[in-house]
Amino acid sequence: MKTKQIRRIAEFIEPLRVPPGSRVDLAKDFDPGYKADFLTKKDGKKVLRNGIAALADVQARLAAQDTYGVLLCLQGLDAGGKDGTIRHVMSGVNPQGVHVRSFKVPSAEELGHDFLWRYNRHLPSRGEIGIFNRSHYEEVLVVRVHPENLDRQRLPRPSRGAGVWERRYREINDWEHYLADNGIIPVKMFLNLSKEEQRTRFLKRIDRPEKNWKFSSADARERQYWDDYQRAISQMLSATSTPWAPWYVIPADHKWFARICAAAVLGHTLIGLDPQFPQVSDEEKQELRTVKKELEAEAPKGAPADPYAAAHKS
Ligand code: AMP
Ligand code: MG
Repeated sequence: MKTKQIRRIAEFIEPLRVPPGSRVDLAKDFDPGYKADFLTKKDGKKVLRNGIAALADVQARLAAQDTYGVLLCLQGLDAGGKDGTIRHVMSGVNPQGVHVRSFKVPSAEELGHDFLWRYNRHLPSRGEIGIFNRSHYEEVLVVRVHPENLDRQRLPRPSRGAGVWERRYREINDWEHYLADNGIIPVKMFLNLSKEEQRTRFLKRIDRPEKNWKFSSADARERQYWDDYQRAISQMLSATSTPWAPWYVIPADHKWFARICAAAVLGHTLIGLDPQFPQVSDEEKQELRTVKKELEAEAPKGAPADPYAAAHKS
């Protein structure tokens, strides 16, 4: 990719990044309806298509190099567009190199462990892109907004007190630092939806029978905690955007624009890792030449010595 394109992507995503150490007030600092004024929805289609192709290319190199893994953490309120973002942004990549894990209400087994245990079990390996559809950040969001979730985790008494959220932020930061140091790179996106757009999308899920399965009255109940969530999200973004794993707030009211942003943020990280296809040594090249000669000698009567080379002469 050309230096100019790389710089353009970096500039494009800069306003979405939460500067480490800053104090975020989500409602004031990030507009869910934002879209770049130089881009129309129609041009956006082409931009996304190009972005998806570029992601496919860099993912192939990530897999071949087998040194880095990427952990994409997708957070967002109900109807924020997490599923659609995954479907569109990852549509071009080799499915063998991507694993998606959706995190729901924890099982009895999961509740029997420390809070990061279930996330640890689904980390990507080197060469892979792992996607967390909801992530360990639920542990400071839904668990904070509804403290009965914390009771179910059966923490020892000294660990339950007032400092629990600050401690979780630190533990999450430390865990992500450890991962990044070891070549598993976290990429964190929060899909930022407005309350009115959520209302519209909920109604769509009710009005369209094929979307009914996606909606439950629990979603409507959760909406009543909107302000609590906005506060918890603001604090989470302030406390856990770090130099090794910064947050990006994706404006989510316009799906087409959100997808471009998500592709750009992921692309930016992957390009920064600059994965390369492994180089073949001189010795290995010599070996390839020897085997080539042997295979050519096996050519049946009338067949070209190297059918591939013959077909691709020009
Ligand atoms: P969905 O993503 O619509 O399938 O819903 C998954 C549900 O699981 C959401 O309501 C989340 O709030 C909930 N959930 C995810 N992680 C946790 C957690 N650690 N504790 C409690 N609830 C969770
Ligand atoms: Mg849901």
